[in-house]
Amino acid sequence: MSKKIVLLGPPGCGKGTQSNLLVDNKNFFQLSTGDLLRAVTSDNKSEVGQKIKKIMQQGGLVPDNFVIDIIVKKVSDLKDQNIIFDGFPRNIDQAKFLDKSLESETISLDHVIFFNIDYKVLESRIEQRIEQSSGEDLRTDDNLEVLNKRINIYKESTLPIVDYYKNKKILCKIDAMESIEAVYNNILKIIE
Ligand code: AMP
Repeated sequence: MSKKIVLLGPPGCGKGTQSNLLVDNKNFFQLSTGDLLRAVTSDNKSEVGQKIKKIMQQGGLVPDNFVIDIIVKKVSDLKDQNIIFDGFPRNIDQAKFLDKSLESETISLDHVIFFNIDYKVLESRIEQRIEQSSGEDLRTDDNLEVLNKRINIYKESTLPIVDYYKNKKILCKIDAMESIEAVYNNILKIIE
């Protein structure tokens, strides 16, 4: 049976790193709405494309209908595969939408893995990333000001999802301040 998991946590908590490990070692497909949005908007000169790019650069949330349009076809195409939802859902409406669209394919989420981390650690991680970077590999939203905005939006819009999944009894909390390997092993214990 294929698995469907959500990685939930603030920006910089390590969701992307852990997704890569699961893709490389455990035959998962990573569905990252951030990556999909960056791909769609990279050379999109339309007014909508530019508007979305700006929202992302400033650390805001892209309107639900745009994100949902992107994800809906993917869910249908990938329904028989192991999927990691990375960066989606980011609010309650998106969480409800995801449930519905999985339900229409007669599948459901197996686990929502909540990356617990101190916000101070996120700041030092991004400072380190900026310090070590040559500039070219930095994302346009990789700076302290945008990080703080993203953290505030996370607290306001995304954190309420934790209770939503807790009530559904599929939430598992992990300590995202441990080493990459320890976090990965803890994830494996949950999903295997
Ligand atoms: P990420 O790569 O997950 O850090 O996302 C980068 C940016 O893409 C976010 O700051 C948002 O502007 C946008 N984004 C990604 N996923 C979503 C989503 N599920 N809902 C709204 N905006 C999103």
